[in-house]
Amino acid sequence: PCALVVSIPLTFFAGIGGASRKGILVKGSNYLEMLARIRMVALDKTGTLTRGDFSVTAVHPEMLSEQELIELAALAESYSDHPVSASLRNACAKPLDKARVSNVENIAGEGISATVDNRMVYAGNEKLMQRAGVTSKPCEKSGTIVHIAVDGVYMGHIVVSDSIKPQSADAIARMKAGGVKKTVMLTGDHRCVAAEVAQIVNIDEFHAELLPTDKVKIVEELRKEHPEYTIAFIGDGINDAPVLKLADVGIAMGLAGSDAAMEASDVILMNDNLMAVADGMSVARNTLKIVMQNIFFAIGVKFIMLLLGALGVANMWEAVFADVGVTVLAILNAMRAMHVKTK
Ligand code: ADP
Ligand code: MG
Repeated sequence: PCALVVSIPLTFFAGIGGASRKGILVKGSNYLEMLARIRMVALDKTGTLTRGDFSVTAVHPEMLSEQELIELAALAESYSDHPVSASLRNACAKPLDKARVSNVENIAGEGISATVDNRMVYAGNEKLMQRAGVTSKPCEKSGTIVHIAVDGVYMGHIVVSDSIKPQSADAIARMKAGGVKKTVMLTGDHRCVAAEVAQIVNIDEFHAELLPTDKVKIVEELRKEHPEYTIAFIGDGINDAPVLKLADVGIAMGLAGSDAAMEASDVILMNDNLMAVADGMSVARNTLKIVMQNIFFAIGVKFIMLLLGALGVANMWEAVFADVGVTVLAILNAMRAMHVKTK
């Protein structure tokens, strides 16, 4: 039937249009279908559940003054675009002379190593300190701890904190109401910070202190554990690109997100608002509902007309209506996919 062939792609187009009106870019109708079926959501923490704009909340130097420690860290991080780096640069009162920095190496999930004024500086988490062969001191403050070592000597640490996005908890609740059975947070950050965020936004399960490759492994394990679930991964960083590709639906942040994350994703949230995931799921479910209505309507009417024709009850004009008229009605129904009321 014409109605079937014309209205179904049109319903998906209308659904993709409706989603983009809400700031959700879906890269194809197959991903719209997947959005409706999401049963497990894995998410990154920094920049996804939290704002990703860190600020320095404490400085605990060992041998230097507070400002000297900050300057050293800011210099080592001067070429990095990690959110932690930006906060250290902002906290440094003096202008930074990048010419003093060379041999910068970005160690994913750990931190930075660089040569500053001919001294080897490491700035990052405990794993990085182990790599540098330095024992770091623990900190009682909650937050992400940036430890600093110079030429194999521990110089102290700087505590930076991030805030949770105000809508994160509601967004998770709405995803659960929309059919998501399990939510999992994956982060490279410290266990304590991860536990606090997971509890506040009500995430079912969390894994902390992960390297980018660990995130991939965990998503593979989750898939083995629940092969029946459609898995979505939501993230923003360069590190997240492999998991975004691996998940059934990869969802990237459009504003704060890295180019790599956006390239690897299937869906992009233009305003970085997690609520949009739940909105996208409603739009997708509504679209699939309309597709089903059109399938049953088009085939149903055809079948009835066939029967009536065989019995000699229906004439040619009624048959023409069953084809063209039903097509028009199905198209009108398809347009409804563009409009979905969401909170
Ligand atoms: P997430 O998975 O939460 O997005 P990342 O994988 O980017 O986090 O980083 C994991 C951890 O590694 C951070 O919490 C931080 O402790 C450390 N880290 C990463 N990059 C840097 C950096 N440039 N400076 C200091 N610490 C860093
Ligand atoms: Mg991140």
